[in-house]
Amino acid sequence: VLDRHAHQPHALLQILRELQAELGWLPRQALMAVAQATGRTVADVEGVASFYRFLHLVPVGSHRVLFSDNITDRMLGSAALMERLCQRLGVKPGEVRADGQVSVARCSCTGLGDQGPALLINHHQVITRLTADRVDAIADCIERQVPADQWPAEWMQVEDQVRREDVLLGTPFTPGNALRVARTLGREGTLDQVQRSGLRGRGGAGFATGLKWELCRDAPGAQRCVVCNADEGEPGTFKDRVLLRRHADLVFEGMTLAAWAVGASRGFVYLRGEYRFLLEALNEVLQRRRAAGLLGTGIQGEAGFDFDIEIHVGAGAYVCGEESALLNSLEGHRGTPRIRPPFPVEVGYLGQPTTVNNVETFCAAAHILLRGGDWWAGLGTPKSTGTKVHAISGDCARPGLYEYPLGTRIEQMLEDCGATDTQAVQVGGPSGTCLSVTEFGRSIAYEDVPSAGALMVFDRRRDMFEVARNFAHFFAHESCGFCTPCRVGTELLARRMDKLAAGQGSRHDMTVLQELDTLLHQSTHCGLGAAACNPLRDTLLKFRPSYERRLQSLHFLPALDLDAELSIARAATGRQDAAAHWPPTHPTTS
Ligand code: SF4
Repeated sequence: VLDRHAHQPHALLQILRELQAELGWLPRQALMAVAQATGRTVADVEGVASFYRFLHLVPVGSHRVLFSDNITDRMLGSAALMERLCQRLGVKPGEVRADGQVSVARCSCTGLGDQGPALLINHHQVITRLTADRVDAIADCIERQVPADQWPAEWMQVEDQVRREDVLLGTPFTPGNALRVARTLGREGTLDQVQRSGLRGRGGAGFATGLKWELCRDAPGAQRCVVCNADEGEPGTFKDRVLLRRHADLVFEGMTLAAWAVGASRGFVYLRGEYRFLLEALNEVLQRRRAAGLLGTGIQGEAGFDFDIEIHVGAGAYVCGEESALLNSLEGHRGTPRIRPPFPVEVGYLGQPTTVNNVETFCAAAHILLRGGDWWAGLGTPKSTGTKVHAISGDCARPGLYEYPLGTRIEQMLEDCGATDTQAVQVGGPSGTCLSVTEFGRSIAYEDVPSAGALMVFDRRRDMFEVARNFAHFFAHESCGFCTPCRVGTELLARRMDKLAAGQGSRHDMTVLQELDTLLHQSTHCGLGAAACNPLRDTLLKFRPSYERRLQSLHFLPALDLDAELSIARAATGRQDAAAHWPPTHPTTS
């Protein structure tokens, strides 16, 4: 493994991930060997390994099962299926079975919200459309110690489910054609077309792509870098999974165009760890492009146009979707967001000016070069040009991918996906916006409701408090722990929601929740912490009765349930009599 990465210290995460794939976990001797070979300290290597949830410093069993805990998987019964598997295998959630064969736990989301419930096996194989029968068959395979790559192929079938195509998903594309146009236009002319198009980043932030490329091109530095952010970890999002499977050439061509425009020679795709199953196919496309002269030295015979792409696989850290955290991860560090400024366009990968763009943004750029910036600017609305791909999941008859011009109303999307009796939609994942039925006339656009491309549908059967509680746990789980307001605040938020769910809440808890919302918005280091209370804020405003019916009292109630706390002592002493409970039901003698 070390040789494959030339002992490069910056390849640390890839080295650790590949070592673990061979060893099953990361023993201390392995970390020491990696530290010695890469010139990093053992503490540093251990610090990196301990940051990522898909890396393990203790054994986790030869079968590591991770159930997706995304709300739409939960709505499809994932919790009961996980319990069933645990019972069949005789293992507790989050623990390794005594014989070391198996562990079962949860992960935030597998990016398969359109075909859940889903799970991951050993971090690189996915199983979709789980049922009780399938869970029983999985338990059987594990007990018989059948390696996961020999399990039935239909369990691992991932469908693209493209339901509505527009220019990105539906236009045939010939590799190299956009690059030919770009070379004819020159570097300046290429940038000009992207700027004329009005294209804005499709990862959620919506920064102008042409301006980002220009800033990167103009920043001082001998070398530049292009990074494709394929770390779509936002629960409910899965559009990049499909774009990478069906349109990898388009993505790589867009990256190569960016390299041409900014003068970069090195490119990375940061692929989320849950999409490890796409890696081989993506590498094959890269190989084909190299063989066709579309990557490498002198692309399409153009002297000085040198660019190549490497794929770097993440390891289960949602925060790495934030571009500066992603760059730290690419450099082999913990995925902690950086202080900005300086921005990555000035000081990015290894200090080089770097443009980081979303998968869909690169796809759009390739089409813009083929058909012109003015053509793209004529689609969508004046402030939100072009089309947008949406991953729709939840309570609808036809979950999957839908591409619309920006400015499309939510009610249109709901009708197309076969949603009925809808009470709410979550746009842009947990960090986005929750809209109630009175707002379905609004449109997805930067000037109205911006979206990173996820639309989760909730009909009237759903309890919106439980939706917000699931999201609160997601943020607590994914907080990177760097800053105290987020590390502690997200945990307090989740616990307070649990207290309400247990029927022990009072108005005082509602006040505390609102104080946490203010605190997190004002004082966290990055957007994850700032967004953690968005679902709470929206659902409190629009679905307040779902909170209030859980309140036991209008006044203060202690958070401690003394009788529940005594259960451990009762179990230890073998007592279940009335006097061992609080409050006791009859007088006790001392
Ligand atoms: Fe990490 Fe949360 Fe702070 Fe962001 S806000 S740096 S995710 S602890």
